[in-house]
Amino acid sequence: MKTDVQIAQEAIMEPIGKIAQHLEIPEDELELYGKYKAKISLNYWNTTLQQKENGKLILVTAINPTPAGEGKTTTSIGLGDALHKLGKKTAIALREPSLGPCFGIKGGAAGGGYAQVVPMEDINLHFTGDFHAITSAHNLLAAVIDNHIQQGNALDLDVRRITWKRVVDLNDRALRNIICGLGGKAHGVPRETGFDITVASEMMAILCLTSDLEDMKKRLGNIIIGYTRSGRPVRAEELNVTGALTLLFKDAIKPNLVQTLEGTPALIHGGPFANIAHGCNSVMATKYALKMADYTVTEAGFGADLGAEKFLDIKCRFTGFKPDAVVIVATIRALKMHGGLAKTELATENIEALKKGMTNLAKHIENIQKFGLPIVVAINAFPTDTENELQELKALCESMGASVSISEAWAKGGEGAIDLAQKVIEATEKPSNFQYMYDVNDSIKDKINAIATKIYGADGVNYTPAVEKTIAEFEAEGLDKMPICMAKTQYSLSDDQFKLGAPTGFKITVRELRISAGAGFIVALTGNILTMPGLPKKPAAENMDIDINGKITGLF
Ligand code: ADP
Ligand code: MG
Repeated sequence: MKTDVQIAQEAIMEPIGKIAQHLEIPEDELELYGKYKAKISLNYWNTTLQQKENGKLILVTAINPTPAGEGKTTTSIGLGDALHKLGKKTAIALREPSLGPCFGIKGGAAGGGYAQVVPMEDINLHFTGDFHAITSAHNLLAAVIDNHIQQGNALDLDVRRITWKRVVDLNDRALRNIICGLGGKAHGVPRETGFDITVASEMMAILCLTSDLEDMKKRLGNIIIGYTRSGRPVRAEELNVTGALTLLFKDAIKPNLVQTLEGTPALIHGGPFANIAHGCNSVMATKYALKMADYTVTEAGFGADLGAEKFLDIKCRFTGFKPDAVVIVATIRALKMHGGLAKTELATENIEALKKGMTNLAKHIENIQKFGLPIVVAINAFPTDTENELQELKALCESMGASVSISEAWAKGGEGAIDLAQKVIEATEKPSNFQYMYDVNDSIKDKINAIATKIYGADGVNYTPAVEKTIAEFEAEGLDKMPICMAKTQYSLSDDQFKLGAPTGFKITVRELRISAGAGFIVALTGNILTMPGLPKKPAAENMDIDINGKITGLF
């Protein structure tokens, strides 16, 4: 069997100008990055796109992930290819992969099998430099903060309460906690700080939620970088560098155009964490795609309890986007794990375990119905799935009023997702009644409670005393009228990663609240979320190589 990188390298790509023609993008509005990658100009939006009607929006989400894999990106790409094959003007909008997980455990994130975006190596490596721009802007602000302290600290910043850290786009646990400014008077003021991975930067979330350069400037200026000794939050704008920060994003803000193995246009732009941030590609990419294509397929990270909830309650609220259909990806294998089987037991038929595990899918179907949106369940097919298991799963979906299709996109590309595409088109024509899960003007506790009880199925929410104090502070500062970004384990509907299926009779515990005032949301952390991952014992990097001709191996 061929590896993903082998399949990708065998692809015959079209020049990117030709791919742009599918969406009628004029050659002049493309900014080329080599033969197969381009950014689309800001001018094109300002002069042309903004006046156009939006096409249909299809959100791809999934059950809670398990080590057996679900395949949201693969299904999104296959669905896009199938719509393209059916003659529909289609665009796919996805996140840019981060280098950290690529060299850690994931080894790439550009789809899989015959449903991939290409040039796969470029997309997984430095691509068009967007992450470099984010890293540089983030670290410029950090350098300016330390310089401000060194030059006399006119703002009276409390060096123990500076929340703005530094970032690098690698998994490097040794940088999680550091002391900077060592070496004596000429070398800065020593203080404890640390590094996050670039995708965890608030600037990544800002890049992904911003709608233009003016809005970008406002959001960058609003970032809270720390507190004064009297406890007042200090915003980035007080350091007088928002202009400089914004100009570092002058190209990064433009969406990137690439293609799938089958020549379907794909916009790949931005890649925020799906726990401490909202976990979907940029608003810029989605809004361009909606104007250019009749069907836009986009993916939200993790399971529907995190990714889709935030897509709907944060991204849609900020932009007015409204999905016309939601695809929930599930695999028989993963559902059997939710039903209690170990990863080694998935190859044999087990209806009992499947039935037990299907409660997880059923809860996500029910949740998306609460948002008022039509659903298609995509069963991402594996060779071990049996006919009995497939029938069992289909029956459940149909009994809940969700349409269902078996997707073979991984094995067959667009051809394997034609039935899915047809069902998705039908779903987008159904009436819908989209509503958010909470009112943004509700109290912080009411908002968190709404997500926990309606989406997770919790009985309620516990708050640590520290969080109670933070809530009072946020309310006093008028920082409470923002949407909530939940940071929770992706493996369970609860905040305990070992509670699989659809747990009941539990409460979640909020242990910390953080403010992302620039991005525009409040992060509620339910556990210990690492914002700088580490490498595993044998990093994926050990399998990677490049030969004298530049041919790459080991990205998968
Ligand atoms: P997600 O977006 O949900 O994280 P991906 O689409 O990136 O998932 O898929 C995760 C991994 O599983 C990829 O390496 C992909 O190639 C593989 N994969 C996905 N679907 C299948 C399938 N039907 N059969 C075999 N491997 C698959
Ligand atoms: Mg994915």
